[in-house]
Amino acid sequence: MIYSRIAAVIRSFSFYKSHPLNVECKTGSYARITKMKLTKRLPVSILATALLGLSLALACQTVPETNRSQIVLIDPQSEFKLGVDAYKDALSKAKLSKDMRMAGILRRVGWNIANVAHQPDYRWEFNLLEAQQPNAFCLPGGKVAVNTGILPIARSEAGLAVVLGHEIAHAIARHGAERLSHNMLIALGGELLAQGMGQNRRQRELIRVAYGYGSAITFTLPFSRSHELEADHLGLLYMARAGYDPREAKLFWKRFADFARSNSKGSTPEFLSTHPTDQHRIVQIDRLLPTAMAEYEKSSKIGIGENLM
Ligand SMILES: [Zn+2]
Repeated sequence: MIYSRIAAVIRSFSFYKSHPLNVECKTGSYARITKMKLTKRLPVSILATALLGLSLALACQTVPETNRSQIVLIDPQSEFKLGVDAYKDALSKAKLSKDMRMAGILRRVGWNIANVAHQPDYRWEFNLLEAQQPNAFCLPGGKVAVNTGILPIARSEAGLAVVLGHEIAHAIARHGAERLSHNMLIALGGELLAQGMGQNRRQRELIRVAYGYGSAITFTLPFSRSHELEADHLGLLYMARAGYDPREAKLFWKRFADFARSNSKGSTPEFLSTHPTDQHRIVQIDRLLPTAMAEYEKSSKIGIGENLM
């Protein structure tokens, strides 16, 4: 059973569809495994070692600006297709704003950021959605949507540049694909552990539940917080290069934190939250501000830009 599940997981990785395992593999352990069939004769430990080796071999990718190494098991084409499909789906369920002035400002700020992000393969699109929740997203391939509810918090073009810089940074740093890759490995790890250690069905179920819970707390959540801070980092540089005053970032996140506080019953402790605490975020902006200001000085300086109020 476990082997057919592993085979299903492997088949589901689009990367493997386009890159047969025996083409680029240099490590003996998983070069050999390509010649085997995933049958019950194959020990779990060999599969686990092979998959670990494969993951490490594919980890030769770094995030721009921060140079952090990351594991991404999905090729950009498949990732973009996921992004386009998800964007179509999101837009079909949303209401586009009729405010042409704001939609125009969104496109202008969006293109200013996109032009300094240097992603020739992206097909940029910027849509303003009529929705009260202060939210925004950028899907793989440059598909951006912003809710009207975030405009009063952004207040100016520069505030909107903070939002767009942050969201576009998530896409360029491939955080979604990285998260998906980690989830695939976590799922596979839990299955291998359960099959390897549990002697009966009940035990195996308990191990699966415990492993999933432990992974979420110790692995998935800190990972998300690091993504948030990394998106802040890249976003600050993008907005500065696009000519928006990076000092606005701190003011925007303070307003955002005030809004979040006044609209929730109490703050979630950082340990269990997927977002960094306001303090953590502000400390990082303070640290990066001299670099961002140097980029701003070299830009064609838009400053704060048009007022959105
Ligand atoms: Zn974010």
